[in-house]
Amino acid sequence: MPAPDEPEDETAAPPQDDAGDPVARHRATIDRLDSDLIRLLAERLHAARAIGDHRSRDQGAPLRDDDRERRLFEAWGREAEGRGVSAYFAGRVLREILNWSRRDQERFLGAATPGPAGARSARVGYQGVPACYSDQAIRKIFATREVARLERVGFRGFAAVIDALEAEEIDYALLPIENTIAGSINEVYDLLGHRPVTIVGEEVWEVEHRLLGLPGARFEGLRVVRSHPVALQQCAKFLDRLVGVTSESFHDTAGAAQALAREGDPTVAAIASEEAAREYGLVVLKRDVSDQSTNLTRFLLIGREAEPFDARRPAKTSLVFSVNHRRGALLDCLKSFDAQGINLTKLESRPQPNAPWEYQFYLDFEGHATEPAAVAALQEMRAHTNHLKVLGSYPRRVETDSERRARDAAPGAPILEPARPVVAASGPPAPGPAPHPALPLAGLKSGTARSRIDVSGVEFGGARFVLAIGPCAVESRQQMMESAELVKRHGAAIMRGGAFKPRTSPYAFQGLGFAGLDLLVEAGRAYELPVVTEVLHPEDVERIGAVADMLQVGARNMQNFALLKEVGRARRPVLLKRGMSATIEELLLAAEYVMSGGNHRVVLCERGIRTFETATRNTLDISAVPVLKERTHLPVIVDPSHAAGRRALVIPLALAAAAAGADGLIIEAHPHPEDARCDKEQALTGGDLEALVAALRPILAAQGRHL
Ligand code: PEP
Ligand code: MN
Repeated sequence: MPAPDEPEDETAAPPQDDAGDPVARHRATIDRLDSDLIRLLAERLHAARAIGDHRSRDQGAPLRDDDRERRLFEAWGREAEGRGVSAYFAGRVLREILNWSRRDQERFLGAATPGPAGARSARVGYQGVPACYSDQAIRKIFATREVARLERVGFRGFAAVIDALEAEEIDYALLPIENTIAGSINEVYDLLGHRPVTIVGEEVWEVEHRLLGLPGARFEGLRVVRSHPVALQQCAKFLDRLVGVTSESFHDTAGAAQALAREGDPTVAAIASEEAAREYGLVVLKRDVSDQSTNLTRFLLIGREAEPFDARRPAKTSLVFSVNHRRGALLDCLKSFDAQGINLTKLESRPQPNAPWEYQFYLDFEGHATEPAAVAALQEMRAHTNHLKVLGSYPRRVETDSERRARDAAPGAPILEPARPVVAASGPPAPGPAPHPALPLAGLKSGTARSRIDVSGVEFGGARFVLAIGPCAVESRQQMMESAELVKRHGAAIMRGGAFKPRTSPYAFQGLGFAGLDLLVEAGRAYELPVVTEVLHPEDVERIGAVADMLQVGARNMQNFALLKEVGRARRPVLLKRGMSATIEELLLAAEYVMSGGNHRVVLCERGIRTFETATRNTLDISAVPVLKERTHLPVIVDPSHAAGRRALVIPLALAAAAAGADGLIIEAHPHPEDARCDKEQALTGGDLEALVAALRPILAAQGRHL
């Protein structure tokens, strides 16, 4: 990439009449750089392809080189920072490039495949009209398959696509099978169970709904919004806020856009993709219309015959079965997989027409049906089933949890090799006091494992020492974006930030409330950081829990029993801080409150207690860490910031917490501490965070843990 200070290329100079316009001049520079970027991407892809070609001929070669990828991330991060570009941003670009190179290399692995995959052209059927999500997913899955000509054919319904496949009018069908918000698409399951077809691939498409209108239409003038009922449901909150606008169901999203373009009514809008806007000459009236930011649809590529693929590619197998009426038959089926060490990724049940209360089960597992373990499991399973059909083994596109963690740990977070088992922090519980009768849920029972608490992909209580870093309070969009950059740069797993602040004085800054929550979530999403934020009132739990990844109950609320009960009903993990004059026993009973409400994802936090000592804001009770480890299976983290009250003390206390076996830290940091509106004396700077991380590494390495 050219250095920012490189002189401008004369040949790309703007036309004469733009010469005086600085914006036009900069745009010309950008256009030139973009074309350089594409040329460089193409060259890089060619080099990667040559490696793929080599690997396809050498069957012993692994498909990925994780060490090399990690080194690339480090090199990109260093180089980017040196040029004043965010290492995180560079890492994200690299991740996309590597993902694509890998997919591209796979075309070599499929090229030897006989049957339709090796054919010169492919006709692929889908349900919908051009530019619908299925149509876009076809282009994605075929981008790395060896086909010279791809023809996409839209059908009115799912069954019609399968009919065409059976009649050999098309080579493949691509149908949606499940959506992360709406759930399974039952009709497609039923077709798979009953028709003589087989699954040969899967693809995941990220659905991004937009509100589309005619060019010139005004948002204020809208009277009707049309889309597929599922899309309308996924945008329900946005639609509810539109006064005087009615929703109308349409058979598909892009179809609604197509009809709108034909009718030309400026009071009508459609919810569909940006691609559909381009296809039908519409404009985007509003971008963020989905209630949930993550909206993924999984599609299946269906063919008439199975297609072999390289054994080094991770595989998935789908089956349908029904069990006989014996007690425990379903459990026996599942046990067959467990006995072979096979991971199941999905189990779905469907009623059987004409057989009331008898079910068909659809099951996905990791691996190929021809692998010895799978053959054995399927053999064993046949003894417990009335009917069993393998729907297909195909290359897996959906990442598993462990793959996702490994990938997330890569950029900027070097993994230290585990040396020996973790000291005190995890592993089998040490024999301690007898189980506490008042703590049936939170108490440690001998022989049971310690809990690992998942927070949107980040695990507390495992070998990763979790850093949650961020400002005391959310203050502005810019402050949050800069904070997220800071947090990500130092390898923290989670971002903190208070939108609702419990302040000792009513005249102190109380936080930005829900507006602050939106800024926190926006910054977290932009940098792929789960966020933790404090909830003060029981009535806010649901609304905050809808967007925040973790709910914090602050020290002042540790015995707010109404709040504890409410977070106990929430579907989000809870960070429970110790009250400043609460005993360890009281903290555990507070955790028991939350867990007795059904929410078992609780992480405890020691944050300093009131003592006669005035040299520090609070006295960090470091012994609480090993004491809690004796009494509960829940993860324990430490907040050295509110204990210390002063920047200079935060790092030594943080290191002590790690050495004592805490599972992580929650720390306050600010891009400009001098301007912080809350707790500025204890906020760490970027330089402090660097020093902290460098000092933590050897301590964690000695315990066999990592950041
Ligand atoms: C906080 O973490 O923002 C906070 C207010 O801490 P505590 O509840 O421990 O005082
Ligand atoms: Mn604070």
